Amino acid sequence: MTFTLPELPYAKDALAPHLSAETLEFHYGKHHAAYVNNLNNFAKDDPSIAGKSYEDLIRTASGKVFNNAAQVWNHTFYWESMRPGGGGEPTGAIKAAIEKDFGSFAAFKEKFSATAAGHFGSGWAWLVKNGDKLEVVDSHDAGCPLKEGKTPILTCDVWEHAYYIDYRNLRAKYIESWWNLVNWDHANKQL
Ligand code: MN
Repeated sequence: MTFTLPELPYAKDALAPHLSAETLEFHYGKHHAAYVNNLNNFAKDDPSIAGKSYEDLIRTASGKVFNNAAQVWNHTFYWESMRPGGGGEPTGAIKAAIEKDFGSFAAFKEKFSATAAGHFGSGWAWLVKNGDKLEVVDSHDAGCPLKEGKTPILTCDVWEHAYYIDYRNLRAKYIESWWNLVNWDHANKQL
């Protein structure tokens, strides 16, 4: 197989009670895996995509190849954006950068939550670095800030499949729980 599914950085039940093992069974084991399988199928017809990294494909491909490569990368980044026992106040350099660019952690949290909750349809909310400034952005479907030359710092998946098992239609409740999982060490590494 040309493309492989990156391993989850923790056990499937490790994010409970905020995200259940069942959600990770489906979200990682079915949805994330399907994007990898799709790319492997495309590579059979188009050997030029085989051997390329997900980042390369995000920057250079379009259409279904971009969509599936970006969805593999976005999901891997989403799992890394969370950790068991995460959340709370930011620490280290990301804390200082958030306070510089948003005024306070509370102001950043409010803006990120509003962007994630207000996104229409399937997509992603992101904390990104654009030049030397942090920004909150959203992307539609498979959209990935790498395509626009921005550096992803954190992401929250707001496709319904991310929350429907645990929260049904209540996206805002899922986003509130996501804050209990945020991996600030990961965010600091991306700066
Ligand atoms: Mn997803």
